Amino acid sequence: MELVLALILGLVIGSFLNVCILRIPQEVPITVPRSHCPHCKKLIRWYDNVPVLSYLILGGRCRRCKKKISARYPLIEAVSGLISVLLYLKFGLGVEWVLFFGFSAALLVLAFIDLDHRILPDVITLNGMWLGVLSSVYLAQPIPPIVLGIVRVAGLEVTNPRILALVGSLLGVVAGGGLLWGVGEAFKRLRGIEGMGFGDVKMMAMVGAFLGAPMALFTIMLGSILGSVIGLVFMGFTGKSRDYELPFGTFLGVAGIVVVLYGENLVQFLPIIRPAV
Ligand SMILES: [Zn+2]
Repeated sequence: MELVLALILGLVIGSFLNVCILRIPQEVPITVPRSHCPHCKKLIRWYDNVPVLSYLILGGRCRRCKKKISARYPLIEAVSGLISVLLYLKFGLGVEWVLFFGFSAALLVLAFIDLDHRILPDVITLNGMWLGVLSSVYLAQPIPPIVLGIVRVAGLEVTNPRILALVGSLLGVVAGGGLLWGVGEAFKRLRGIEGMGFGDVKMMAMVGAFLGAPMALFTIMLGSILGSVIGLVFMGFTGKSRDYELPFGTFLGVAGIVVVLYGENLVQFLPIIRPAV
């Protein structure tokens, strides 16, 4: 029963995420006007706006003008539903689900906005960063030995789990954002081109706030591998030059969602970032 609820919540929120992906880059209000057909501008009735189902029933076309509607809308709804169910299976339907689903949803929106426009809006990354710090303090999950080590080396006598979580989250902001900034700078010096925008730096600061330094670094690693492989395949197929600007935020977003769901399993072979039990 709860599983069905998680699925429905994920699908409905996915429908809202589609609106965010379209409207946030255009700086159009998210709530008004209501959804309309991209071709004939006709308002979409509520019964034609049921996630995934309406698309299938109408055969991917607008009810009025019969023009094709992108398959991306139901796809994003389905992905959102899937993430919601997987998070439910991991955390149950509690505060952790709310926080990590919100975080994953933000990454999904960033991934698609970066794909479309090569931007990562501050309104998501910076607000997400503060929410990440707050949610870490609220959850106060055990922090990895390496972070405990840094706290001890810094001479801080901290035992309160919430303050430790705060330190862990802030270190995540610095490590996530800082490493990406460093890589971007190195790239610029070496090849004389702007390899990474500051948006990626702020996005990784947000990931670090939610997941802590070790998992943020792991996300960058995974995102880079993903970007290199997919980038090479894509350039091979399309014959685009090596200087073609890849949407790095898209790969970081996908990597971040994978790490939220399976990070602990994936880092079993990297003991230095395994969380303390
Ligand atoms: Zn239409």
